[in-house]
Amino acid sequence: MSRLRIAVQKSGRLHDDSVALLRECGIDLRNVKDRLRTESDDFPLEVFFLRDDDIPQYVEDGVADIGIVGQNVLLEKGRDVEVVQELGFGKCRLSLAVPRSESWEGVPSLEGRRIATSYPRIVGDFLARQGVRAEIHEISGSVEIAPGIGLADVVADLVSSGGTLFMNGLREVEPILQSQAVLVKNKGLDASGQRLLESLLFRIRAVKRAKRNKYVLLNAPNDRLADIVALLPGMKSPTVLPLAESGWSSVHSVLSEEEFWDRIERLKAAGAQGILVVPIEKMVL
Ligand code: ATP
Ligand code: ZN
Repeated sequence: MSRLRIAVQKSGRLHDDSVALLRECGIDLRNVKDRLRTESDDFPLEVFFLRDDDIPQYVEDGVADIGIVGQNVLLEKGRDVEVVQELGFGKCRLSLAVPRSESWEGVPSLEGRRIATSYPRIVGDFLARQGVRAEIHEISGSVEIAPGIGLADVVADLVSSGGTLFMNGLREVEPILQSQAVLVKNKGLDASGQRLLESLLFRIRAVKRAKRNKYVLLNAPNDRLADIVALLPGMKSPTVLPLAESGWSSVHSVLSEEEFWDRIERLKAAGAQGILVVPIEKMVL
């Protein structure tokens, strides 16, 4: 195999983040607008732009070697592909929602009721696990208007902020599935394809890690240095350099997003001054 073929959403909520991720991996893609396929000059990658619903099948069939798709679509389509990496964007949940004027008595109260959704398989499995029988009406878009036009009593739809549900007089009552975009691969990928995938994954992980971390530089009085260094993990350990002014050092380290604010406060309390926080572009361990 001379190049890896990746399937990406043509337009929609995953398109921009998918293309941005490839670009952050140093893969230059020209002409992504209104194209069905494009190639990169600086990485052996060919990109197919498709409807997200078709991506699992293209990857299973080996028309594309890998693809970027939401876990929701992957589960619904039930295609035999392998998830190789969670990508951290396209986050949403598939939730049950009812008209705001109605009370919610829990999943058992769905017995015998009509549920509109574009995800009949996921919703059907969920109901089966709960031992509830309901009528599932599959509709492919604008699910949120179904109760208003008398097509269903309840909907199961994708939600991120909840704004669309609210505008349609609905209320989210029960999450069924949490979802994000993932990278999937064809299970029969050959050895050279696998090597290219490993090299792409290496870059993706470096980009993702970099996003989760910040580079921190600060000034510390030498008599406080031990306390300050103890608060900083660093990739191995923090870098400590003397400042031109005697009795002071410059300390450099890497902090993850989760621990960031807590550590910054404790560093200040421990005597750190002039704290600079800088984004990291790539991070390779
Ligand atoms: P296509 O034309 O490719 O079939 P689509 O209309 O089915 O597009 P989009 O609305 O672009 O799909 O959503 C694509 C994916 O983005 C969803 O399957 C889901 O994984 C993710 N997503 C993230 N947040 C949301 C949200 N609030 N609503 C819908 N999808 C979301
Ligand atoms: Zn779709």
